[in-house]
Amino acid sequence: MRELWFETDRCFIGGVWQPPASRDFLAVENPSTGAPIGSIARGKVADIDAAVTAADEARQGSWGRMTATERGRVLTRIGQFVRGRAETLARIEATDVGKPLTQARSDAMTLARYLEFYGGAADKVMGHSLPYMDGYTVYTLREPHGVTGHIIPWNYPMQIIGRSVGAALAMGNACVLKPAEEACLTALAFAKLAEEAGLPDGALNVVPGLGDEAGAALASHPGVDHISFTGSLSVGRKVQAEAARHVAPVTLELGGKSPQIVFADADLDAALPFLVNGGLQNAGQTCSASSRILVERRLYDELVERMAGAYRALWVGPALEDLNLGPLISSRQKEIVLDYLGKGQDLETAAEGRIIGNAPAGGYYVAPRLLTRVPPGHRLAQEEIFGPVQVVIPFADEEEAVSIANGTGYGLVAAVWTRDGARQMRMARKLRAGQVYLNNYGAGGGVELPFGGVGLSGHGREKGFEALYGFSVLKTVAARHG
Ligand code: NAD
Repeated sequence: MRELWFETDRCFIGGVWQPPASRDFLAVENPSTGAPIGSIARGKVADIDAAVTAADEARQGSWGRMTATERGRVLTRIGQFVRGRAETLARIEATDVGKPLTQARSDAMTLARYLEFYGGAADKVMGHSLPYMDGYTVYTLREPHGVTGHIIPWNYPMQIIGRSVGAALAMGNACVLKPAEEACLTALAFAKLAEEAGLPDGALNVVPGLGDEAGAALASHPGVDHISFTGSLSVGRKVQAEAARHVAPVTLELGGKSPQIVFADADLDAALPFLVNGGLQNAGQTCSASSRILVERRLYDELVERMAGAYRALWVGPALEDLNLGPLISSRQKEIVLDYLGKGQDLETAAEGRIIGNAPAGGYYVAPRLLTRVPPGHRLAQEEIFGPVQVVIPFADEEEAVSIANGTGYGLVAAVWTRDGARQMRMARKLRAGQVYLNNYGAGGGVELPFGGVGLSGHGREKGFEALYGFSVLKTVAARHG
């Protein structure tokens, strides 16, 4: 790929670009064509060990000695470098992940925003002084965990690096990042930009590799003081169990089956683009995808007709052609989605989008599909499909809407569309979700907004100022001075 200005088949450890200790490599595939486009390191235990050691040295060395203001300055500078290379990063991401170029551009700008936000916030995290007994002075300090491990998925590498590595560095942690094997080129590009911007050696280390090799080695490493995991429920459970062996705190950002709930009094014109895009952005491979549309019965026919119209206008094709949807990430992901569609043959298809005629035969394309009159207990209404599929479920009243919305075990995101202000407030309280959006979906993806799940969607918060508390430890200092 001509956009790459660095070697991709390396680990970045202690400021050095080095091949994996095993000299094993993994192929990089372009999901728009299925063709190989390069190779990456297959990091294993030895590389993770070296990365954790380098991070520990950085924490005790020049990185650990920097003031919060200096750290903020470095992050802001990395943000400027990201802005300077935003188009290159977007093209790399589009090619590696398969997401349409416009979406990849937005991810690159979001990464820059995270670095600006956390760069500015680094020296604004404070402890408190506490009123206590006579003769005592008590105060709290916010300190870094030390070495933080970051295991991330392939669907939004740049955004997730920004929110997790950005916040961890702002607090003075030294990071070991294990990107997903399916898409790690922008993680390496980010490390290159951080190096060029002057981040001290070892403050950020990147070890690409397989989940059950490099990922498992990082999750179980006794030298890691905190793990930030973003990915699937099944792997999240394993990561938490591994980290528990040395009692390391874990943030889990997992999946969802997020509903958008549309009442009959909603402004359907305003809602329509959010209903469709909320479910189909990145071909539905989004943790917070609105894979369930719950609609009040009175509005059911009109909503289905309008959503079906929008689906019929959707085009799927290669990422760099920048259509509405790109391919799925891999042949495996395509199989998973087609398997779910096979299990939904008893359901009514209201509409499908179209794959362009000249889409490369080797690409992992799936036409988006809108399924209607779906019983809330159906597998396709309960499980995370992670593909371009939305189900529409009718409800009778507010109570039933809440019961269906809260009925999957997941609790990531929910949206409510209604003009009734009192109902908005009631619903916001009754919905079991980490985020509730009223008359919007995703709130523009603002980096300022804390984000995370409840229930099977995970625990802990990233994004916003809140993330800085998660990436730090509170120490209480109590002085008796008489
Ligand atoms: P995944 O769980 O398969 O992989 C995520 C990461 O974990 C990858 O880097 C992988 O290599 C690693 N991994 C795999 N096995 C491991 C093991 N045994 N030990 C340690 N690490 C291991 O998830 P995915 O398919 O890459 O991503 C899709 C999932 O991520 C979806 O469920 C999606 O909802 C979720 N997700 C959640 C959020 C959020 O913010 N809540 C954001 C994006 C994606």
